[in-house]
Amino acid sequence: MSRVKGFASRAIHHAYEPMENEGALTPPLHLTSTFVFDTAEAGGEMFAGEREGHIYSRISNPTLDLLERRIAALEGAEAGLALSSGMGAITATFWTLVSPGDEIIVDETLYGCTFAYMRHGLAKFGITISHVDMTNPENLRSAISDKTRVVYFETPANPNMRLVDIARISEIAHESGAIVVVDNTYATSYLTRPIEMGADIVLHSATKYLGGHGDVVAGLVVGRAEQITEIRLVGMKDMTGAVMAPFNALLILRGLKTLALRMDRHCSSAQQVAEWLEAHAAVSKVYYPGLESYEQHDLAKRQMAQPGGMIAFELEGGLQTGIDMMNGLKMIQRAVSLGDAETLIQHPASMTHSTYTPEERAAHGISDGLVRLSVGLEDVDDILGDLVQAMPEKPTAAAA
Ligand code: PLP
Repeated sequence: MSRVKGFASRAIHHAYEPMENEGALTPPLHLTSTFVFDTAEAGGEMFAGEREGHIYSRISNPTLDLLERRIAALEGAEAGLALSSGMGAITATFWTLVSPGDEIIVDETLYGCTFAYMRHGLAKFGITISHVDMTNPENLRSAISDKTRVVYFETPANPNMRLVDIARISEIAHESGAIVVVDNTYATSYLTRPIEMGADIVLHSATKYLGGHGDVVAGLVVGRAEQITEIRLVGMKDMTGAVMAPFNALLILRGLKTLALRMDRHCSSAQQVAEWLEAHAAVSKVYYPGLESYEQHDLAKRQMAQPGGMIAFELEGGLQTGIDMMNGLKMIQRAVSLGDAETLIQHPASMTHSTYTPEERAAHGISDGLVRLSVGLEDVDDILGDLVQAMPEKPTAAAA
C-alpha cells in the first residue's frame, strides 16, 4: 500500500515528474505572457470554461500551477493560488469575498499593512471592520452576527505573538455561516495547518519563510477548489491583477524544498534565544510561544508542531534602550521582513506597524518598546554573541 509522502518529500516532489519534462530535475520556467490556441474554436472554449488549458499568464501559468499544487498539498487544501505579494493575496481574497454592508471580524492585532487595508481600504467601500480579542474565543460568539461574512486572524500575530485557537474560532464562526481566513505567514504550513483544524482559507506572505532567502516578494492562498477559482478569476484577474511572476514561482519552489530543514533550525535557535532573553536582567518581557512562562504556551503546544522562529521582547528602559541595542548589533541586521537566513531585528511601532496611530497601537496591544526579532540560520552562538555585546549590562537608570 502506498502511503502519503511526508511533508519534506511533498515539498520536494509533489506534482512534478522529470520524465514528462525532458528529464529536467528542476521544473522548467515558463517565461511567457500568453499561450497559443490550437484553433480559434479551442480558444473560445477555453474562455467559456469548457476546455482546460492556459490562456494568459494573468490567469494561470504552468510554473505557477506547480507551486499552487505544491502549497495546496502542504497545507492539506484542495487548491492553491500564487500572487504577487502577501498583500496581493490578502486584497484579492477580500475583494472576492466581501460586498458593501458585510462585516469582517478580525483579531486585535494585525500586520500593519493588513490593518491599513482594512481601516482605510475596505472601510471606504461600506464594509465594517470589527476587532475582537480572539485570544478568548467566547468574545467572537458575542460579537458575530448574520452580517459577519469573514472571520480573519494571524496566529502567531505580527508583531506581538498573540495566538488564536483555530479550531474553536472556526467552530464558532461556522455556526453563523462566516468564512474563516487565516494568515499563516509566521507559523508556515510546516508548523500549523489551519485547514486541518477547520479554517476555510489560508494565506501566506511567501516573501517570508516559504521563500526563505529574502530575494522575492510573493503571496499564496489555499482553500477549496471552487473558492480558489473565484479568487483567481475575480480578486486576482479582474480586481487587483496581483499575479506572481513565473521566475518568482521558481524561487518559492526552491525555498519550499528546504522549508522543513530551515524551520527546524529557526525553531531550535529561537527557543535558545528566547530562553536567554528571558533570563537577561535588562529584558522586561519576552513573547515566545515556546517559553513555559508564555501565557498561551498550552495552545502553542496543541496547535503548533514547534513554536516558530519569531520572538518579540521589551527592554527595561523602553524604546530608547531598544533603539540603542539595535544600533549596537554587528551581525544581526536591522531590517523589516522575516523568515530569512539572516537574523533580522526591527522596531514595529516606528516601522512595520507605523500604519497604526499611536492610540491605535496602544488599543491593539503593540507597545512602543516592543522589538521584533526574526531568528535566522546562523550559528546560534553567533546570534547570542551579537545580542550579548549589544545588550545593556543591567537595567538602565530610567528603569530603576
Ligand atoms: N502578513 C504578514 C503576517 C506579514 O508579516 C506580511 C509582511 O510583512 C504580510 C502579510 C504582507 O506580505 P508581503 O510583504 O509579501 O506583501
